[in-house]
Amino acid sequence: MLLRELTASVDHVRGAGPATVKALGRLGVSSVAGLLSHYPRDWEDRSREVPLRDFNKADAVCTTVTVLAHDWFGAGRMRTLKVYVQDNSARAALVCFNRSFLEKQLVPGRRYRLWGRFMYKYGEIQSSSFEFEAFSEGENPGRIVPIYPLTRDLTQKRLRDIIACALKQYAAHLENEVPLQILKKEALLSKAAALEAVHFPPDVHRLEQAKKTLIYEELFYLELMVGKRAMEKRSVAVREAPAREAEKVLLQQRLLERLPFSLTRGQEDAVAELNRDMDSPYPMARLLQGDVGSGKTLVSFMAALKAVERGGQAVIMAPTELLARQHAENAAKLLEPLGLRIAFLTGNLKAGGRGNLLKALASGEIDIAVGTHALFSKDVVYKKLNLVVVDEQHRFGVLQRHAIMEKGSRPDLLMMSATPIPRTLALTVFGDLDVSVIRDLPPGRKPVRTHLAMESNEARVYEFIRGELKKGRQAYFVYPLIEANAEQDLKDAQSMARRLAEQIFPDYSTALVHSRLDEEEKRTTMERFRDGTVQILVATSVVEVGVDVPNATCMTIEHAERFGLSALHQLRGRVGRGGEQSYCFLVYSDELTDDGKTRLRVMLENQDGFVIAEEDLKLRGPGQIIGIEQSGYLRLALADPLRDQALLERAREAAFALLKDDPLFSKAENQVIAEVLRRAPPFSELAL
Ligand code: ADP
Ligand code: MG
Repeated sequence: MLLRELTASVDHVRGAGPATVKALGRLGVSSVAGLLSHYPRDWEDRSREVPLRDFNKADAVCTTVTVLAHDWFGAGRMRTLKVYVQDNSARAALVCFNRSFLEKQLVPGRRYRLWGRFMYKYGEIQSSSFEFEAFSEGENPGRIVPIYPLTRDLTQKRLRDIIACALKQYAAHLENEVPLQILKKEALLSKAAALEAVHFPPDVHRLEQAKKTLIYEELFYLELMVGKRAMEKRSVAVREAPAREAEKVLLQQRLLERLPFSLTRGQEDAVAELNRDMDSPYPMARLLQGDVGSGKTLVSFMAALKAVERGGQAVIMAPTELLARQHAENAAKLLEPLGLRIAFLTGNLKAGGRGNLLKALASGEIDIAVGTHALFSKDVVYKKLNLVVVDEQHRFGVLQRHAIMEKGSRPDLLMMSATPIPRTLALTVFGDLDVSVIRDLPPGRKPVRTHLAMESNEARVYEFIRGELKKGRQAYFVYPLIEANAEQDLKDAQSMARRLAEQIFPDYSTALVHSRLDEEEKRTTMERFRDGTVQILVATSVVEVGVDVPNATCMTIEHAERFGLSALHQLRGRVGRGGEQSYCFLVYSDELTDDGKTRLRVMLENQDGFVIAEEDLKLRGPGQIIGIEQSGYLRLALADPLRDQALLERAREAAFALLKDDPLFSKAENQVIAEVLRRAPPFSELAL
């Protein structure tokens, strides 16, 4: 029997009464399978003696005591039992808040094994958080005890008892879910043994083996699913492969001839890779990674040109209207002269114009549609959508990426991101994507000089920026809030826009942009900043993605400690886009948390987005990385792809080898896998 076949309700477990069943329900545990995979969140090693005297030298005391006497204090409902105990090192008091029933269980004169957290209070060693068991002579008292996630009306002891019962009733019948050869090769335990040992490990070594077994199993199934999906993508051709080497794409050549610069090596390689993908019979699924400013937009235009030359349509989707508009303007500037028809589609179009636009998309009069999530609104129909480009892909959820793909018939997909995905994650959630990386920046870029400044020194920062403005450059000022907020004593964009315009830089033109302004106002403001009419742009993190104004050389982020690393890096990436030396000032307030300090130091010491992303991952953990939450990644119960990287790579290798050998799991020894995947895929959805 498979673990997941134990769908019987927990009330089938001997000793699980209605109250326990209800409490378990609150933990999300309703079936026997759920109960057995309610893994401990920690294990307490009670094989090591810690006498009462050493209560403050270790986390917890672990000793054998004799009960000396009972005492009561308080009155009425507050009446509380106190039990005095003693081991061979010291005396202590157990304070039994709301546990008067312990009067009967802790009998004076008898011996008990005792575990608990103690402190020195009112002249004695005390604990109100302890557990005990009757001591029996001759039995090895030491063992490792599971600590479970709990809920109201459930104690560790109750949960342990129930799980022990469930293991006794069911474990022996459980089948292995990882093929036997692999179990042997990796020296893993059987499923039954692993479950038993993860809940009630006889010793540390066995616990490690049990954890390794269950982690391996999770990763193995994760990779099976990743591999299976990658295979499915390549199972049905969407086009014929070109007979000989693909011809040069004329539109691409013409664009390159018109550019005032040539592609960087990284851009060239990326274009070559996507051309190859788009020539293969199977749909492209490629992730293009490149630091801010590496020129990914141009690469996506090259892909669009190939799709169009082949008679299809392309969409380029961006997460904000500001960025989408900028892409649309660039596309108009660069691609319309080649005879392409570009449309800009957002949620803010007026009914009339929108109607016409939708008609043009449906009839194929439009070649490239640039826009926001409006591109996949219900009523939008494409004649022949062949390429989907998702810019800043981490800003979109899985469902949104799905929705846009559904508008075509297995279109090519190019996802772009300036937030590098560490290799381990690339193997899991993005495991069925091909990856291109642009490592270089266009020539002539100078690294942005970054300075930290205390809030009290802001006047010096403003002075420096005045010097840059005098030279004809432009500046950004970014704040964590749009408007003043009574609860937070922070500078906000609105008030600072006024202050900067009226008091600090009265001789320069200042404008404000944030997410609550209407699109028309945002658009005109950005246009005026781009053409230089406005020299100072005061903003919130709306300018984080994509905005490209090469003449802006100063980025000041106030309350920088309030921003995450990836936001800081993206914001800094708004400057340093032209040939001039650029500057970034991170202004911080005095009460810096340790985390805030670390982030600012990382920014000061690093320019490389890949390094910064790795640091970010270390600080926040993989679950927090945007775009990963929705991906099913968090369904991993024990495994952590970062920590378990070596195991992950081996599981991946084994899973892929098995898929290659028996893609449909038709061999007898792989029936179990087919069954597991058929019953309930362990991972609901992966990245795409
Ligand atoms: P990102 O990768 O951050 O999306 P963009 O596509 O916005 O970067 O490009 C940043 C800037 O670099 C744009 O102004 C773009 O025109 C310019 N650019 C792109 N490729 C090159 C190149 N090969 N040489 C010089 N400038 C380039
Ligand atoms: Mg970009």
